[in-house]
Amino acid sequence: MQKPVYLDNNATTPLDPRALEAMMPFLTGQFGNASSSQHVFGWLADEAVSVARWQLATLINAFSEEIYFTSGATESVNLAIKGVAEAYQTKGRHMVCLETEHRAVLDTHEYLKHKGWEVTLVPVKRNGMVNLEALEASLRPDTVLVSAMLANNETGVIQPVAEIARICTAADVLFLCDASQAAGKMLLNVKEAGIPLLALSAHKMYGPKGIGALYLSRRNPRVSLIPQQHGGGHESGKRSGTLNVPGIAGFGKAAEIASQELEAEAIRLEGLRNSFEARLLAALPGLKINGMGAARMPHVSNLMFPGISGAELMTKMPMLAVAAGSACSAADETPSHVLKAMGLSEAEIKSSLRFSFGRFNTADEMEFAALTVIGACGLLTTSAIRNI
Ligand SMILES: *Cc1c(COP(=O)(O)O)cnc(C)c1O
Repeated sequence: MQKPVYLDNNATTPLDPRALEAMMPFLTGQFGNASSSQHVFGWLADEAVSVARWQLATLINAFSEEIYFTSGATESVNLAIKGVAEAYQTKGRHMVCLETEHRAVLDTHEYLKHKGWEVTLVPVKRNGMVNLEALEASLRPDTVLVSAMLANNETGVIQPVAEIARICTAADVLFLCDASQAAGKMLLNVKEAGIPLLALSAHKMYGPKGIGALYLSRRNPRVSLIPQQHGGGHESGKRSGTLNVPGIAGFGKAAEIASQELEAEAIRLEGLRNSFEARLLAALPGLKINGMGAARMPHVSNLMFPGISGAELMTKMPMLAVAAGSACSAADETPSHVLKAMGLSEAEIKSSLRFSFGRFNTADEMEFAALTVIGACGLLTTSAIRNI
């Protein structure tokens, strides 16, 4: 019997068994508090945190002291945006972000607007890539921060973040990069790219849920940030709260695995994704790839099936776990703001589905997925014809 195939790796990735193994000691015998500096239980926990911090830093070419653990990318971007807002408000009260950012970034800006901040949303081109001229034109003397993601969660479109960083540096504006969907899946060097703030999430890179990190550059520039959570002064005072040692150990291991495997894995997934797309394009006339022509992550296919409802298509292929519309939060029923920003009509958005592949998808599963999609489209088009 065919088991359901998980093709929603951009919503969350399965935990790599090797990351689970790295977590187990800290869920059992080595339960110490990493802040307990008086005894061996604390030392063992603290040692695990140091190793993980180094593993994360290595993944993005930062220094260990520049990594701050949080509960996930949502918290990281909240801390970054609100923390920078408070620290730099004497410079001005204006921020910039892309229209296609994750809700975590958009909603935090919305919150700041209620606090009297001005926010400029920068449009993207039809292929989903930022309009750099518009970005440059949006910067003002009172702009304190630009937020732009590295890879889009819905389309996989990769933004030219080194170029964005260059524009921000020239204008003396800080830049936050939400790298949740790209970290561990493509080479990422914050120093070379000139990125001063970067958000990460473990459960998007085969680590556990509920753990993330914020990278803050210490030099050129040294980023100041007002903490948003107060308590025991953990994480150099930037983020208080007893450290989630098992989560951190799993996150670190996930980063180490990714550092070693990401290049080969990207090539494998790109091959599988390309043949998946080629098969569908050959079988389904009119099929469109959202984000075509842009640099895209090698494991994402956001497809538009003209004349077919994505929601209905999903009901015809219950063995495939895929995502419709705005995917990340089930609470949100509104059509994708990302596809809308790319100029798709409401009907085109409703006809779009996201397939996101991952480390544990096999060539057989991808073959099954392609056949299943083609079969389901056939069912819907024949019933549509019958209804005429
Ligand atoms: C998943 C995701 C987030 C939120 O991360 P959590 O760790 O789940 O809070 C933020 N930004 C992007 C681009 C994401 O894909």
